Order: sequence, then C-alpha cells, then structure tokens
Amino acid sequence: MTTNYRLAADVVVLEIDNPPVNALSLRVREGLVEGIRRAAADPAVRGIVIGAKGSFPAGADINEIATGLAFAPPILLDVQAEMEAIGKPIVAAITGTALGGGFELALTCHARVASPEARVGLPEVKLGLIPGAGGTQRFTRLAGPEAALEAITGAAQLPASRALELGLLDAIAADPLAEAVSFAQRLAGSGAPLPRASARAEKIADVDPQLFATWRAKVAKKYRGQLAPQRVCEAIEAACTKERAEAFKIERKLYLECRESPQRKALMHVFHAEREARRIPGVGPEVAPQSIRRAAVVGAGTMGAGIAMCFANAGIPVTLLDVSPDALERGMDGIRGHYAASVARGSLTHEKVDWALSLIGTTTDYDALSSVDIVIEAVFEDPELKRRIFAELDRHSPEHAILATNTSTLDIDRIAEATSRPQQVVGTHFFSPAHVMKLMENVRGAKTSPRTLATVMALARTLGKVPVLAGNCDGFIGNRMLQYYGAEAERLLEEGASPEQIDRVIEAFGFAMGPLAMRDLAGNDVGWAIRRNRTLPEDERWSPILQRMAESGRLGQKSGRGFYLYEGRSRRSDPEVLALIEGVSRELGIERREIPDAQILARLLHPLVNEGAKILEEGIAARAGDIDIVYVNGYGFPAYEGGPMFWAEREGLERVIETMEALAPSHGRRWQPAQRLRQAAERGRWT
Ligand code: NAD
Repeated sequence: MTTNYRLAADVVVLEIDNPPVNALSLRVREGLVEGIRRAAADPAVRGIVIGAKGSFPAGADINEIATGLAFAPPILLDVQAEMEAIGKPIVAAITGTALGGGFELALTCHARVASPEARVGLPEVKLGLIPGAGGTQRFTRLAGPEAALEAITGAAQLPASRALELGLLDAIAADPLAEAVSFAQRLAGSGAPLPRASARAEKIADVDPQLFATWRAKVAKKYRGQLAPQRVCEAIEAACTKERAEAFKIERKLYLECRESPQRKALMHVFHAEREARRIPGVGPEVAPQSIRRAAVVGAGTMGAGIAMCFANAGIPVTLLDVSPDALERGMDGIRGHYAASVARGSLTHEKVDWALSLIGTTTDYDALSSVDIVIEAVFEDPELKRRIFAELDRHSPEHAILATNTSTLDIDRIAEATSRPQQVVGTHFFSPAHVMKLMENVRGAKTSPRTLATVMALARTLGKVPVLAGNCDGFIGNRMLQYYGAEAERLLEEGASPEQIDRVIEAFGFAMGPLAMRDLAGNDVGWAIRRNRTLPEDERWSPILQRMAESGRLGQKSGRGFYLYEGRSRRSDPEVLALIEGVSRELGIERREIPDAQILARLLHPLVNEGAKILEEGIAARAGDIDIVYVNGYGFPAYEGGPMFWAEREGLERVIETMEALAPSHGRRWQPAQRLRQAAERGRWT
C-alpha cells in the first residue's frame, strides 16, 4: 500500500507511505481518492487527516513525468475535487517538506498543522513550471499577493514559523499528527462551514494593481529570460483580480503553457543531470565516503578565504594557513567583509555569522594540521610551489587525510607525485566567489582512490555544492572548453564585432555575463598569463588582442579599464579599445564586416560543444549531462537552455555538424567536428 488507512477514534488518518520520498505518484493519488471515498461513506468517520510516513510529499514523481504517468488520472486536481466534495473536515499533518504538489494538496485541506522543523513552498519555477493545482490561488488568498509573489517566483521553501506568520499554516505542533486529529475533531464539532483557502478573500481585496506591474518588472530583471516566474505573476494577479473559478482556470492554462515550453524541458534535464552527476561510474554505494570533521585550507587569498567560508557555513571547523600573519589578516578581512554583506542583505543573521567565524582558525604553522581530515590547497597557480606545499602537507597531516588542490588547470598527477599518498590526492575545483558559486569540479588523478572520490563528491553536497567529476587534463572540463569559447570571441572582434555586441548577444541568450565582460572580471593579465603557458597546434593561432590588452594596462575591472571602462562595476564602451581591435584587424589583413547576432551566437556556442565532444571522447567527462552541469553551475550558462550539450542536441547534432563544416575551410581546424560529435549525430543524441 502506498496510502495507509487507519482510524484514530472518529478520524481517519490517511498516511502516505511511498518511499523513498513520498512523491505524489499515481498509486498515492489513487490511494488518496480511495481513502477519501471510504471515509466519506463511513458514517462513523467525522474527519480525515492526511499525513505521511516520513516527509510529506515534496512534489510530483519526477520519473512519472518522463513516463507520462504523472498525467494519468486521478491527477492531483481529481484528488482535490474529492477533498472539496466530501463535506467532512480534512486536516494536513505536515512533517519534513511539503513542496510543490505536496503543498498544493495541503493547501486544499481545511487546515494545516506542521512540525516545527517542517518547510513548505511552491518551488515549481525551478523546473520551469508554475503550480498547476490551485497553488498560486490558495497561497495568495491565505498569505496575500505580496508574500505569494516573493515566495513563488523565488521558489522559496518557507520554515514552518514563517508559514504560520503568513497564514499558510494553522498551527505548529511537536506531534502534528495528534494535533491534526484533534483539529479535525474540533472542526467537525463546531458546526461551522468548513474553512477553505479558496474562499478566503480578505487579503486579495483592494490590492493596488501597480503591485503586479512592479513585480513583473522585478522578475524580468532578476530571472531574465525565464518564462515561469512571469507566469507566476500573472497567475497571482488573476487570483486578485478575476472571479475565483476563472482565476483557477487561468492558472491551469498558464501551467500547461509552461509544461509544454522548451524551458521546462531544459530545466528538467538540468534537474536530472545534476542527480546523475553525483554518481561515479564504477564506484558504487559500497564505497563509503570518509567523514570530514575538520578541514584546513592553504592559501588565504580570494579562493582560499571563500573555501574556508564554505566549510564554516556547513559547521565544519577549518584552519586557514598562509605564509604570514598579514596574509591571514587580509584573508580574514575578506571573509568578515563577505559576512557583513550577507547580514546587510538579510541573508544571514549576526548569530549565524558569529558562529561561522568561530569555526575559522588561522595559522602559519603546518603543525596545526595534525588532526585534519582534508586539506584544500589554494595558493598561487604555480606547479613547483604546489608540489612543495603538497610535500609539506604529506609530512604534517594525518595519514588518513585527503590532500586536495583547487588548481584551475594544473596536472593533478604531478602534484600527487610530491606526496607518499597519491591515492588520497584529488582536485577540488571551486569557482569564484567560492562561497557563492555552486559548482565543485572534482578532478580524478591517475591514482586517486574510489574512496577519495566518494569523499569529495559527498563533501560537495555537505558544503551545499553541486559536484561533477572530471578527468585530469589541461583545464579539466570547464576551463578547457572555455578557452575555445574565449578565443572565438577574440576572433569575432578581429572580424568586425565589438565587445558590446558580443556580450549583448551572449547575455541576451541568457548567460550571466558575456565573454569579454567576464575577461575583465577575471583580469586580462591573468587570462594572458594562462594562455602564454599553453601550446597550440602549429596551424592555429591565438588572437593577439588579449596580449595587447594586458600589456597596455587594460587589466579589466581591477584597473578601471579593460574591454570596457568601469566606474565600480558599471561598464561603458571605450573607443580606444575599438581602435586597438581595428588596428589588430588591419595588421592581420582582415577586412572588418558587419556580423549578424545569430552568427555571433553560433560562433561562440559551437566551440563549446565541439570541445565538449572531445572531452567525452577522452573520458574526461562521464556523461554529456555532466558537462551541462559544469556550464550551468560554474559558467553562467542559462539553466533554461539546459547547458551546451543539451543545446546542441536540441539544435540538432546534424545541423551542428553542418554549421561547423561550413566554417571549417575559412576558420581553421578547430572548426572540424570531433569524432564523438559525428557518432552522436548518427543517433541524434549524445547517449
Ligand atoms: P590569490 O593570489 O588570491 O591567493 C593565493 C594565496 O596563497 C595568497 O594569500 C598567498 O599569500 C598564499 N600563498 C602563496 N604561497 C604560499 C605558501 N607557500 N604557503 C601558504 N600560502 C601561500 O589566488 P586565488 O585567486 O585565490 O587562486 C588560488 C588558486 O585557486 C590557484 O590555483 C587558482 O588557479 C585557483 N582558482 C582561482 C580562481 C579565481 O577565480 N581566482 C578560480 C578557481 C580556481
């Protein structure tokens, strides 16, 4: 049984029991309908409690969405129709998380009781959807439009206390089931009409119509290019401005529109790929991760400080090691600054910050590493320095400790050779700012053991990161692909595009930042230094633009000028940069031309896809989806486009090849499609 039926005095408890997560799968929906009908027919039953063994449902069954069973009757709307028709009180007993369809089920009950640690919300926008079973309507009627707009467009999971304040819950109780039973008895005994969220009108009366225009504009900026958050605004507006039945219909229509949208499919792909990426082929659940109770980070610079914050935020004591008290002080100042900004924004409390800061220690002495379980090295990107430090770490840290490096490009095996424990050496590549960016690209060395891999994959999740495993090569997955994308941007500059045009096209596609703005952020000197160490095939060349930028002091944001002129973070065009670029075109004998936006987009996305294919071919990434996850979580690729590999599949792999072949004769060998791309094109998909 997926829904247990049991009598507690004169109240029926319908207990959802559908491991592992109590998803609202077909059998659960059937069980609920059956239980409600049975309770309706039994005169001895005065009320119903809907609860769950473990957590309340956190939404639809994702696997059923793929198979179509999610849309087989009875759908959630049918269950809700039964609930509305029965005439006996139904109370939800919420434990764990009631999210999405699970919370819509709870909102249809006549009252809701939750445990103190429960969380509730309608996070459908994350999957490109809006709630489609009255969620936006009932939420808005109970909590008011402002709270609904904030929570539903933001995919918030509200703590029980906040949900109670907002009117979404009726009570919080240590034993929500017992409280829900007596709640149902009280409702049955009162003789009053049953309370329904859908009939509440106090909070939707006299709403300023301007509110919705304001929110639409806000959402357009915050969730640029995304359909679902806009549709949430419309559904909530309908709740406040249309007659009830019509508003429910509007929500359903908007939901169906989202469900059929390409964005929903892309976001669903990202959702699945993210889960899939946690699995390491050949390393099963029998390989238990080591526990990480204490950590150290070597190098208190930009990355080291951010990584230390990740540990502290997760409650793991961490020691920062650097060469001098001054360097440590600078690192700690940075950390305090980030925390102060979080408090000012309201995303962290003073108490949480004090607690996190109390977990961060500093030292200049390797002896302080004698009881750590993992060390993450984040010193300058210098192979010899890193090797020296690893030898030191090997001497001073416990035998079981994992020694990880945050290198962006260097050979993990060369670093591992400097130790007596290469099986415990691994890459843990964080992204800047490390305490914010979700991606953790873990890098497997030739000798890295399965246990070490399992540990860093699990650690990523403890730190709230999204892990992807990469093989050891220059640039791993993300930066290796990025160099071709960045290089192509410069070729486009040589051929006639301006930095503004390129960045505008990429940002309109949905990237957080265009390639040249990104260069300015990372520093053109840094970009040039990395490139200088790379060798290219003989028949290839780098554009000289980056070098010229670096050598003329146009370092980017940090020097106030790069591809743009900066005041703070706001950028404006620099005519001198265009002159520099035009000079390069002249020197190279390239006749500048007008390049259509669509060509710019194609020119930048194809190199990502082709290099991604080579990465698959070499086994550097296990799955195309892993590459998508790297790009979505580490490089600002729009999640609603699914990542570069998903984009290529949707574009049509055959067509991707045609485009590349058309450009190869004039644009060089890098435009020749990879073998793995050709193979995939035959099947029409990567797998
Ligand atoms: P950074 O220059 O900000 O910091 C480096 C820190 O290492 C400094 O505090 C320095 O004092 C310290 N250090 C140098 N030698 C040391 C030694 N012998 N012992 C202890 N500490 C020492 O550098 P960063 O930007 O934080 O980069 C660190 C690493 O992270 C590099 O490998 C880099 O490639 C990688 N990385 C950087 C970024 C980024 O965006 N900055 C992103 C991902 C990875």
